[in-house]
Amino acid sequence: MSVLALHGGEPVRKTRLSYGHQYIDEADIQAVSKVLRSDFLTCGPEVSELEAKLCEITGASYCIAVSNGTAALHTACLAAGIGPGDEVITTPITFAASANAVLYCGGRPVFADINPETYTLDPASVEERITPRTKAVIAVDFTGQACDYDALRAICGRHGLLLIEDAAHSIGTVYRGTPVGSIADLTTFSFHPVKTITAGEGGAVTAGRSELARRVLLFARHGITRAPDLLREQGNSNWYYEQQLLGYNYRLTDIQSALALSQLKKLDLFSARRKALVRQYDEAFRELPGVLVQKETKGSDTVRHLYILRLDLDRLRWGRREFYDAMQAENIGVNVHYIPVYYFPYYQEMGYQKGLCPNAEAYYESCLTLPLYYGMTDQDQRDVIEAVEKVLAHCRR
Ligand SMILES: *Cc1c(COP(=O)(O)O)cnc(C)c1O
Repeated sequence: MSVLALHGGEPVRKTRLSYGHQYIDEADIQAVSKVLRSDFLTCGPEVSELEAKLCEITGASYCIAVSNGTAALHTACLAAGIGPGDEVITTPITFAASANAVLYCGGRPVFADINPETYTLDPASVEERITPRTKAVIAVDFTGQACDYDALRAICGRHGLLLIEDAAHSIGTVYRGTPVGSIADLTTFSFHPVKTITAGEGGAVTAGRSELARRVLLFARHGITRAPDLLREQGNSNWYYEQQLLGYNYRLTDIQSALALSQLKKLDLFSARRKALVRQYDEAFRELPGVLVQKETKGSDTVRHLYILRLDLDRLRWGRREFYDAMQAENIGVNVHYIPVYYFPYYQEMGYQKGLCPNAEAYYESCLTLPLYYGMTDQDQRDVIEAVEKVLAHCRR
């Protein structure tokens, strides 16, 4: 057996492989340069073009580009009318922003448990946590696969709740023939560099209903409008506008929009490569004792953002911490997605206690994110698989 790099042996790779990386080509650089030479750096044509393109890709009727995925979640919650005293059900296995958005509005995030095999919200747990104060559900397409939306939509319909989909991971995913972006009442996207397409920083909200879309737009633009049919004082001139509520400056620039648009032209290419890499990982790990692969939500045709390997801890002498350290020593940039949101001191101080979501907590003890991005080569992937097999050989019972 070869000696682990952790124990002074040769690492599987000489150079470090990161867990994610953006892919920027000459066309992206040209698209950004063109904006820099133009009249509009912000509030120009690239923003509306991006919004139109996102509607086309997602099948949504409305799209509002915003400055990042967190702003998208915040404006979606504001548009949903979340305020003090309101509860919003979401998953603890997500980036903190999904729950923080509820807090920004004065509402209370309520954490429901995950399905232990797909790692997305368990609809039965969501239903259990509904109270008379529940206003909305924020479902997160964790790793890129759609949640069980047939069940979630039915629950939201029965209880009169708004469904917000955090699709930061899932652009390009299709659920039972419907693209992400036109499944929920409101869908939020992020274009951070680790996501499938990037704008440097950026985000968007899509909606099917105009009232919701208009509220998102109003909150993202200072609460200010010029739309003639929305103005309360009529008969004024072109220069006239009104601030009707307290909103924010969540504008996306034309520079960022041009980058996102150029990246979107490669979405099919990115998706195909990600799907192929996931297939190859699944094939390598499905039968391998000591690890478990993520199960696909029924009906989800997934563009995977994260590849999660689950350690079958009963069959290993090591926990995730040792496994993680051993993989890092082999020069494989593994990661952990996510620490349950309510574990953070900020949430603990608000009174959330460990034990709330047993499946999520067990998941957290055993999850490991492997590198997955468009630019990784087949050799890179073989290195990851070799390193997993090497570490497993040392720590299997
Ligand atoms: C990245 C991410 C966000 C936040 O997006 P930003 O663009 O970084 O603000 C929200 N939710 C999830 C699940 C994310 O992965």
